[in-house]
This record gives sequence, C-alpha cells and structure tokens, in this order.
Amino acid sequence: MNTLTQTNIKKDFPVFLKHPDLVYLDTGASALTPQPVVDAITRYYTDFPVNIHRGMYDLSQQATEHYDAARRTVAQFLNASFEETIFTSGTTHGLNLAAHLLENTVQKGDVIVLTRMEHHANLIPWQRLAKKRGAVLRFIELKDYAVDMDSARGVIDERTKIVAVTMMSNVLGTKVPVREIAALARHVGAVVVVDAAQGVVHEPVDVQALDCDILALSGHKLYGPCGIGVLYAKKALLEAAEPFFTGGDMIRHVTYEDASWADLPNKFEAGTQHISGAIGLAAAIDYIRGIGWDFIQTHEAELTKYAIDQLRELVTLVGTCDTHTQGGVVSFLIDGTHPHDVGDILAGQGIAVRVGHHCAMPLMRYLNITGTVRASFGVYSTKEDVDALIRGIRHVKEVLHV
Ligand code: PMP
Repeated sequence: MNTLTQTNIKKDFPVFLKHPDLVYLDTGASALTPQPVVDAITRYYTDFPVNIHRGMYDLSQQATEHYDAARRTVAQFLNASFEETIFTSGTTHGLNLAAHLLENTVQKGDVIVLTRMEHHANLIPWQRLAKKRGAVLRFIELKDYAVDMDSARGVIDERTKIVAVTMMSNVLGTKVPVREIAALARHVGAVVVVDAAQGVVHEPVDVQALDCDILALSGHKLYGPCGIGVLYAKKALLEAAEPFFTGGDMIRHVTYEDASWADLPNKFEAGTQHISGAIGLAAAIDYIRGIGWDFIQTHEAELTKYAIDQLRELVTLVGTCDTHTQGGVVSFLIDGTHPHDVGDILAGQGIAVRVGHHCAMPLMRYLNITGTVRASFGVYSTKEDVDALIRGIRHVKEVLHV
C-alpha cells in the first residue's frame, strides 16, 4: 500500500472546502473534524437537544440513549467496561482526576515515576500530589530522544507507588513502550497511569493488553470535538475513591446533612455533561474504524519517513528519526533562527505548524533548547503538505539569511 498518493480523505474534512490551500501540520494540537462528527453533533442539536437522565419524556430518553451508546462505543474502543469509562473534558481533566483517585495510595517517602518528556498535564498533577503527601518524583531518562529502559529499571523500585507515562510524546513524537514499563511497575506493585492524548490517535489502545490502571484521552486529538475526553480507570480504584466534583446527577440520596453517591460511572460525572461532545466522540471513533488502523499506521509511518528524509537535509531534527519509535510528529530547529520566527514566516505561506515549548517546559530545559518547530500529521495529511513545508522552510532560510 502506498498511502502517500491518497487524496480522498481530505474530502471528509469540511474545513478544506473553505480553505482549499490550507497546509495543516498541527494535528498534534487538535485534529481537524470530519463531516460525520459535525453531522452527529448537529443531529443532537436538531433532533433531541435536551438534557439526559432526568426527563421522563421521549426526547430526553433519546438523548440519554445516544449518550449511553456513545459510552459503549468508547468502552469498546478501549476494551474497557461501561462503568469504567468516565467522560471528562479532556486529558487534562482526566489526569487531574487520576491524581485525585490515587491520593491515598501515596504516603510520605513514596515515589511517583514519570518520563522526562511528559506534557505539563501529566506532570503538574503529580507534582502537587507529591508535595501534598510528602512523596518524591523520579524521572525515566531519555537516550537519543527515546525512553532509556535501563533508567526505567533503575528508577522503578519497591518505593514506587505510581508510574505515569505518556504513550507518545507530543514534542518528539517518541512512542513509549508502555507495556514494558507497566510490567516493571507491576513487579513492584505500582499503579500504572497512561497519558494517551497523542498515543490513542496513532495505534489501537486496549487497556487490558496495556495492563494499565488508568488511561486518559481527549476527543479533539482523535478527530472528535473539543471539551470532551475520557478517563478509563479500574473499577476498584473508582469505587474506593471519593468523587472529584459533587452536585447534580452523581448522587443516590441527599439530605441537608449528607449525601451518598450514584453507581459508576455517574459518580464521577457531576452536573450536565457535554452530551453532544460524547456523541461526536463516538462518531469520531466510528470514523477512525471506517478508515482502519492498517491505513492509519502505514500512512503515518510513510509520511513521517518522507518528511524526515527531506527535512534531514535542511534542518536539525529533534527526535529518534526512526519510524519504529517516532510517530507522526516531527520537531526540528533551523540553526540561527528562533522557532517563533520560523512559525511566523510559515504561517504567512499558509502553513500551520506549532512552535514553542509545546507544554513541556522541563523537557526543553533537559534538551537545552528553548523550543522547537513541530509538524504533526493526521489521516488527511499528504505528501503535498510535506512538500509545501519543505518549500516553506527554504523560503524561511532565504528570508532570514541562514
Ligand atoms: N498530554 C499530551 C501528550 C498532549 O499532547 C496533550 C495536548 N497537547 C495533553 C496531554 C493535554 O490534552 P488536553 O489539552 O486535551 O487536555
């Protein structure tokens, strides 16, 4: 299969009708939205735009059925149960909730292990938890931009209670061997948390096969809507923890003095939920299924290789540069330039890339750089997009005389 010649997928994304010349290389920030997702959201607002659970009337029951069906789609996608699939506002919400769920598992002197390349969303909640409980953070080092498994074996020990890792770095594109790291964590009885914000877009995620306890993702990275995400957590953890938010829809019984909690998953979904978001996310999952993982993975590897091969001549690449370990995210620097200037000049040519620290400031310091220019690909990205980027970079170099 040569996926680089595909041209049809762009037709599924209405933004390209309005902006036919758009060179969108910022899927790592948010994937574009395909028509079936737009249609599913519209259908909610036109056909049954009412609240779930509380209405006896037909429309409310329809909305509830669609919301429940959306959760079943997500649960099946992750190989999780209905009760263990909690809708959140996104990965950031999910990981904050994860730190809340695990608060009582950490005591003074315990260790929480992360990698050096975590997004702030999978760092700051653990920093706060560690400070609150007197625990310490340890980091798995990188070697040639990939996780150093010797370092992982060194830092995960009997004092380790939580191991929280990204599936794929949003800065470097590095894929993390989550299963191997989870095995090290299991060996010492630590809980495994996975930040799947990037990873879930690039490979099928099966929470049982990964052997993780908690996993968080965002709808907008997965061709779905903004403001919706999912937290998978093992039933025992969800049952043992107190709710994060309290209020409507998450209770069993309330008196003026006290309250008891609804069953899972409602216990963790207080207040009116992002109903259209959940329905849109399920439509995005159906869309991905329709395209198929074979295409998605082959296309990503071919396009990443095509980009790396050409960029190598022009820029300094910041990544493993091997498509076995690097997904569809390519970070680079142009010697003698600032990433913001590069991003600005590329934007002037209609090329959308992301520049800066990518919500990973400590990683920037670790790598001794201030930021990178990042191109990231989606199912709609083409060889022509990469060619436009290459032309754009040549232009940047001319303009900045480097
Ligand atoms: N983790 C990673 C690896 C990410 O790339 C992102 C988004 N850039 C997040 C967490 C946070 O996701 P969100 O902003 O959707 O909560």
